[in-house]
Amino acid sequence: MTNCLFCRIIAGDLPAKKVYEDQHTFAFEDIHPQAPTHVLVVPKKHIRGLKEASTEDAEVIGRCHLVAAQIARQRAVENGYRTVLNIGPGAGQSVFHLHVHLLGGRSLAWPPG
Ligand code: AMP
Ligand code: ZN
Repeated sequence: MTNCLFCRIIAGDLPAKKVYEDQHTFAFEDIHPQAPTHVLVVPKKHIRGLKEASTEDAEVIGRCHLVAAQIARQRAVENGYRTVLNIGPGAGQSVFHLHVHLLGGRSLAWPPG
């Protein structure tokens, strides 16, 4: 989708600090990091959000989480990290291309705000 920010990053039309890429997923540094490690992992397929995902998207959503775990291992933040999906504007979703936030490198409070 040409009007989707993350589709444009995946296509290389907008700059981003790429962390990882494979056939199905793409990961890059969040532009406003909320933790020492704050990486976004996205499916290459445009999916608006978890609400809009279908059963055929299950595999790629799982892949995004496994990529996050791999990055967490590489960044040595395995003592404690979080994968987060914000779903809908009330939860702070601001970009409507499904993305997993990987947050780590600091202590993370519970419950989240
Ligand atoms: P959310 O609020 O859950 O939809 O998350 C969107 C995230 O995308 C936020 O953490 C933003 O800081 C991040 N973001 C927005 N624009 C960019 C960009 N151009 N490059 C990297 N991250 C971005
Ligand atoms: Zn998109």
